[in-house]
Amino acid sequence: VRPDVLVAGGGPAGAACAAALAGAGVRVLVAERTPAPRQTVCGEFLSGEGAAALAALGLDPARLGGVPVSRVRIAAGRAAAEADLPFAAWSLARDAMDAALLDAARARGAEVRRGLAVRRIDGAGAETAAGRIDAGAVVLATGKHDVRGLRRGGRGVRTMLGLKEHLELDPAQARAIDGVVEVHFFPGGYAGLQPAAGGLANLCLAATGAAFDRAGRSPEGLLAAVLRDAPGLAARLAGARRPWPRPLAAAGLPYGFVHAGPGGPVRVGDQLAVIPSFCGDGMAIALDSGRRAATRLIGGLPPEGRVPYAGQVALARLVDRLTSGPAAAPAVALAGLVPGLLPSLARATRVR
Ligand SMILES: Cc1cc2nc3c(=O)[nH]c(=O)nc-3n(C[C@H](O)[C@H](O)[C@H](O)COP(=O)(O)OP(=O)(O)OC[C@H]3O[C@@H](n4cnc5c(N)ncnc54)[C@H](O)[C@@H]3O)c2cc1C
Repeated sequence: VRPDVLVAGGGPAGAACAAALAGAGVRVLVAERTPAPRQTVCGEFLSGEGAAALAALGLDPARLGGVPVSRVRIAAGRAAAEADLPFAAWSLARDAMDAALLDAARARGAEVRRGLAVRRIDGAGAETAAGRIDAGAVVLATGKHDVRGLRRGGRGVRTMLGLKEHLELDPAQARAIDGVVEVHFFPGGYAGLQPAAGGLANLCLAATGAAFDRAGRSPEGLLAAVLRDAPGLAARLAGARRPWPRPLAAAGLPYGFVHAGPGGPVRVGDQLAVIPSFCGDGMAIALDSGRRAATRLIGGLPPEGRVPYAGQVALARLVDRLTSGPAAAPAVALAGLVPGLLPSLARATRVR
């Protein structure tokens, strides 16, 4: 049966969009290229609005194995600052969250085909690895991966590389990050560290291509360089066990991208806007944009003229520039001196 809407990609944005469409009686097919849920390069920090968007779909981070996070700590060089988060946040494993979201879409009537990659999108449907699928509309929700002919870019976009690894910290260090998300800035990027399910910690970092080149173009070299430049992170990781054979990596991440329409398929999530990830709001944007796109499709409306997260992305871009260069340590020291600065910044970069 020809779907009304084909959703290319079954990450948080695609699943949220499909759930909202199917809930309104729209015939939806989700094509997700991975055959099974898996880890993705992500800090796994779910902000307050992200948690609210999950709750609206009947999902509870605690029941999905989430670990509560209530404080934020930032560091650069020897400078550090910390504050309570202005919302209740979670550390939530992406494999569990993404699977639960696709289940929620299925429960509302969406058809989900795993192991099906979309190769090319046109006005009347898409070419997939299993042949052509015609559809009334196509939603581009392929996240970190671009579909041929629809490459993201633009002025001011910074192409980053991401690494992620789960670690077993030394017990004293694990206690030090109990309920805390830490952001360690280094020249050319940042590393995020927070507790994860099962007594582990999630380490996720993003670095510029130049930082990767300086470190000898290997994930291990980059990690070693980051530990030299971020003494606070080196202290946390001293004596840590690394249960994964190697970190997960993703390249070509267009930080600061905001789609400038019109034309082409309906975009959601990272295919619509990419907020620099130390903000920890990409998942919330994915969930929100998926739901908003569904509302407009149901109403027969074209995509919104202005991306509703453009302001937050612009602010995060400024902070990204500041914290990835020599001004990082003074900026962090200032945040330590001005009470309320960190929570205000956290609030100003959220989905509204
Ligand atoms: C280093 C790093 C750290 C981050 N940390 C955080 C954080 O702590 N908190 C936060 O909120 N956000 C974080 N983010 C951002 C967050 O990961 C993304 O914003 C979010 O995953 C976007 O969701 P999405 O559904 O748009 O894309 P994705 O999560 O990338 O999902 C896209 C889906 O589409 C599938 N797909 C791809 N290509 C195809 C294809 N051709 N055909 C079919 N299926 C396809 C993929 O398999 C995937 O399942 C981080 C990002 C990075 C890079």
